[in-house]
Amino acid sequence: MLDILRSQLARNYQHPFYRKKFEEANIKPEDIKSEKDFQKLPFTTREDLQAAFESDPFGGFMVDDVVRINFSPSGKGLIPILQTKRDIEAIDTANAQAFIRAGVERADIALITFNYHIFIAGLNFHGGMEKLGAKVVPLGPGSTERALEIAEHAKPTVLISNPSFALKLANEGLEGIKLLIAAGEPFSSIEGYKEQLKEAFGGATMVDYYGMAECLPIACECKYENGLHIVDEFCYVEIIDPDTGEVLEDGERGEIVVTHLNKEAMPMQRFRTGDLSMIERFECECGKTVTMPKGVFGRTDEMHKVKGVKFYPSQLNLVLKGFPGLTGRFRAVIKRTEKGTDYLEVEVEGREEVDIRQLEEVLRSALLISPNEIKVVEKLEKDREVLDLRY
Ligand SMILES: [Zn+2]
Repeated sequence: MLDILRSQLARNYQHPFYRKKFEEANIKPEDIKSEKDFQKLPFTTREDLQAAFESDPFGGFMVDDVVRINFSPSGKGLIPILQTKRDIEAIDTANAQAFIRAGVERADIALITFNYHIFIAGLNFHGGMEKLGAKVVPLGPGSTERALEIAEHAKPTVLISNPSFALKLANEGLEGIKLLIAAGEPFSSIEGYKEQLKEAFGGATMVDYYGMAECLPIACECKYENGLHIVDEFCYVEIIDPDTGEVLEDGERGEIVVTHLNKEAMPMQRFRTGDLSMIERFECECGKTVTMPKGVFGRTDEMHKVKGVKFYPSQLNLVLKGFPGLTGRFRAVIKRTEKGTDYLEVEVEGREEVDIRQLEEVLRSALLISPNEIKVVEKLEKDREVLDLRY
C-alpha cells in the first residue's frame, strides 16, 4: 500500500498545487516511509481547491491526457472534475469490483437514475456496470412515471438510485429488482430505513454506496451487508479528529479524509470530506477488511463540544429519523449549569407517545452523550436548530 501511495505522491509533487503543500511541510515524496510520515502532509480542503480554481479555470490540474470534464457543485459555485483515459479506466474497474462484491452479474440489467449531464454520478455508475459486462439502461433523473414506463420495457434487476426515489418507485409498483445500489443520500446510517426499503423491494439486497465528485468510489457495501467496505485498491482513507487533525484509532468517530492511490488528473491528497464516520477492521466473507460499519452518519462542519464529547447535529437528525414516531426535526440547546457543567436539552418533533426512555438509550449509544432533558413536541418552527448558550 505504502509503495502505491508513494508513487502517487511523487506524481502529485509534479502538480503546482501539491508542490506547495509539500514545501510548506518541508517534505519530499521520497521522505515518506511510514504512515506516520504520511500524516505530516497538510490536508487539502474544499476552500484550497476553490482558491486554486479562482486563479485558473482548471486549478493548474489540466494535463494533456484529460478526456473528460465534469462539474460539481462546491461551496459557492461549480468546480471542474478532470479525468484522463486511465483515470476513467481505474474508476470503472474499482466500481466494477465493488458491484461484483454486491452481487451484480453479467446477465443483470441495471437501471441508473442518476444524472448524466455535467455531473459525474451517472457516468460513474454506468462505466462500472459496463466494465463488468452488465446491461445498462442510462435512464437519468426524471419522473416516477417515466422510470416505471422504461422499467416495464427493460425489466431491470438492479436499480441504482438515491434511496428516496427508489422507495417511491417500489411503492408505485416497480418489481423484479434483486439489488438496490443506493447513493447520494443518507441510507444505511438511518436506523430502520434499509429494512423499510428491503421490505418494499420484497427482500432484495440493499447496498449503500459512498463517494463524491472529487473522489469516486470511496466505499461500498457487498452483498453480505456488513457495512461499507473502503475501496482500498482505489483510495486510502483516514479518520481524523476534525479539531486537531490527528488521525484517530479504529472505532472512533471523526472526519473522513481520502487520498487517491492511482489518479493522473486532479488527484486528491489528504482531502477533508467534511463527512463523519468511523472505520473498523474485520474480514468480511467477500474478502474486504476495512469497513465503515455505520456508513456516513453526519457532517463535521457543525460540530459542538458537549460534556467533553463531540456533538454532531446531523448525526442526531439521522438517529431521530429512524426512531419510531419521530420526524427527525429537532432543536438542541446547550447550556452551562451553575456548577459549570454542560447541559443538553433536546426537543424533537413527533408523536406524543414516543418512548422517551428508549430514545434516551438510543441517543446515548449513538451520540455518546446523554441529553439531560428530552421533550417531544408536535411541531418545530425550525429544523436542526442548535443553540449554544454557554459562551
Ligand atoms: Zn463484504
